[in-house]
Amino acid sequence: MKSVTEYLWFCTPSRRGYVNITTQVEEILRRSGIREGLCLVNAMHITSSVFINDDESGLLADFDDWLEGLAPHDPVDSYRHNRGEDNADAHMKRQIMGREVVVAVTEGRLDLGTWERIFYGEFDGRRRKRILVKIIGE
Ligand code: ZN
Repeated sequence: MKSVTEYLWFCTPSRRGYVNITTQVEEILRRSGIREGLCLVNAMHITSSVFINDDESGLLADFDDWLEGLAPHDPVDSYRHNRGEDNADAHMKRQIMGREVVVAVTEGRLDLGTWERIFYGEFDGRRRKRILVKIIGE
């Protein structure tokens, strides 16, 4: 069995952002030479997510509005976590959007549905954060 482990780094210019990382994950898979297996992609920070959905700008804006409605950033002092911090909302947004995705690798490709794309979701950005990509198989 082969295995490859790589890290992707991000620093979004605003507090919240959504980045389609499908091409970057496909490139790691291509370099690995793995033809059949599993690909795990996970956020390594508790205020960001990795998730799969449609790469459509209206939908991403809808997600952002929906998350902000569920856990608004302001007023910051309405959260107990925000004694000395200001990112309680980001922890909650991450919990809803998830930590990781696992995608099957079939015949050397990510076996995604027609409209499925892998996203990095950032909820407390403007600093360097990373995700893990681990692919196992043969
Ligand atoms: Zn925090």
